[in-house]
Amino acid sequence: MANTNRQNELKESKPKNFIYEIIDEDLKTNKWGGKVHTRFPPEPNGYLHIGHAKSICLNYGIARDYNGKFNLRFDDTNPEKEETEYVESIIEDVKWLGADFEDRILYGSDYFDQMYEWAVDLIKKGKAYVCDLTADEIRKSRGTLTESGEESPYRDRSVEENLDLFEKMKNGEFPNGSKTLRAKIDMASPNFNMRDPVMYRIVHAEHHRQGNKWCIYPTYDWAHGNEDSIEGITHSICTLEFENHRPLYDWFLDALGVYHPQQIEFARLNLSYTVMSKRRLLQLVKEGYVDGWDDPRMPTISGYRRRGYTPEAIRNFAEIVGVAKRDALTDIALLEYSIRDDLNKSANRAMAVLNPLKVIITNFEGEEELEAVNNPEDPNRGTRKVPFSNELYIEQTDFMANPPKGFHRLVPGGEVRLRYAYIIKCEEVIKNEKGEVVELRCTYDPETKSGIGTSTKKVKGVIHWVSTNHAVDAEVRLYDRLFTVENPGAEEDWLSKINPNSLEIISSAKLEPFLKAVKPSDKFQFERLGYFCVDTKYTTDDKIVFNRTVTLKDSWKK
Ligand code: ATP
Ligand code: MG
Repeated sequence: MANTNRQNELKESKPKNFIYEIIDEDLKTNKWGGKVHTRFPPEPNGYLHIGHAKSICLNYGIARDYNGKFNLRFDDTNPEKEETEYVESIIEDVKWLGADFEDRILYGSDYFDQMYEWAVDLIKKGKAYVCDLTADEIRKSRGTLTESGEESPYRDRSVEENLDLFEKMKNGEFPNGSKTLRAKIDMASPNFNMRDPVMYRIVHAEHHRQGNKWCIYPTYDWAHGNEDSIEGITHSICTLEFENHRPLYDWFLDALGVYHPQQIEFARLNLSYTVMSKRRLLQLVKEGYVDGWDDPRMPTISGYRRRGYTPEAIRNFAEIVGVAKRDALTDIALLEYSIRDDLNKSANRAMAVLNPLKVIITNFEGEEELEAVNNPEDPNRGTRKVPFSNELYIEQTDFMANPPKGFHRLVPGGEVRLRYAYIIKCEEVIKNEKGEVVELRCTYDPETKSGIGTSTKKVKGVIHWVSTNHAVDAEVRLYDRLFTVENPGAEEDWLSKINPNSLEIISSAKLEPFLKAVKPSDKFQFERLGYFCVDTKYTTDDKIVFNRTVTLKDSWKK
């Protein structure tokens, strides 16, 4: 059997987590007839974020590892906050992450008829009733941790009356909020969720798929288990806050006597320096703190994609983080490590100067083409030609007139190696009337040509450069963390913790000439500066815009 093979394989290759252990055991006992079927159930009320990516990787990974199935299901039971824009972005993001739902894009709202019938069934069984208390009154009568709740005065309505009222609710005969359908469970239960929870609310609102067909909408607790059951899900994996909803999940499905998946909870992903609540992300977008859901500073999948993250890196990150049963704050450095690790192998190298300082090579004439390695991690990527001339740009920060000790780059009278080129010596420093350094006059040593020079001269510093007349102009956007504190979500005034310097725009960076032909989403390592990605939003035929994906640990500077 395929599954058995996979299990053997997994024993060797997969980091075990407790969910895999549960599934292994289920396969052993044949609990689900050998089936594994998971789902990712987003509510289409915002764009997906890195926490959702974690859940997608987990659910899809399980389906893949056990030759099972994975559904993308929209939990679209709340007409007021949901939009088709969100549905489309979610489909794009899940596909981009590589989670294969085949043809199964499903919608909870497509099951509204079935859910309605099941609710009628519970009424007939005496397990649900129409209640006339307002939302406020229901909340007040719920009781406290130490006191049981108060039973609704409508709790003992007859089955006939309940059926009649529920039908009238469905037919739109009552205004919003005037009645609910509640499960008849136990107002004295120590678990609040079991104190006659609401199953349906009256909401006269247009639904993105159902139009005006419905004016009663199911609550999450009622709908979710039904959706799982209808789809034949085996393991319904959700985050820890649903742990004390599980008795209700089980109660509904048992009361109906229908197919009953197992709910399993794991700890949600929290990332340092990041807010993850959709409500807050929506606020950042709506109030203009960021440039849309796909702003490269956002923790959304679309933001990371625009910034230059790869699906491989996000999947690896999800794998490294693992699956826990206790909430924790994951260090954002781990995500950055994952992207660096991936781009190190996949991104070609290039030279770019962000803050140019002009260098004249006084003893060089004409032009020369030098050879540069495209990716030292992969010799198959070959080499490219980089033009060298007597007028170059180097980074302003690579020269210091009064250097501190240990500064190994260019100084007056000092020497430095130009990457892939020659060792140059700074002979003269030209300043403007304000005393700022505007140009360096240097000489080069022809015997020190990179790779083939005969000189044995050694210098400590190696810097990047581009030839002035060949350089391509670009805008480069550098990002810092969006928040200044480690756990902004825990702050009362979280908006005041936004980093005012999270975006720095450099309008006239100078790039190596081959970068003239880049296309949106192309990714490169700019030597010594980090990994960069061509922006999909602002790049035009006339203007190249690069986003810095992540900084680099410089390994060859010294
Ligand atoms: P809300 O319900 O407040 O709108 P949500 O983040 O729970 O927000 P859903 O659309 O309900 O959004 O989430 C879809 C799935 O993603 C759920 O199964 C949920 O458990 C999972 N999920 C959401 N946030 C995280 C997270 N930070 N880490 C892991 N999984 C998450
Ligand atoms: Mg949710």
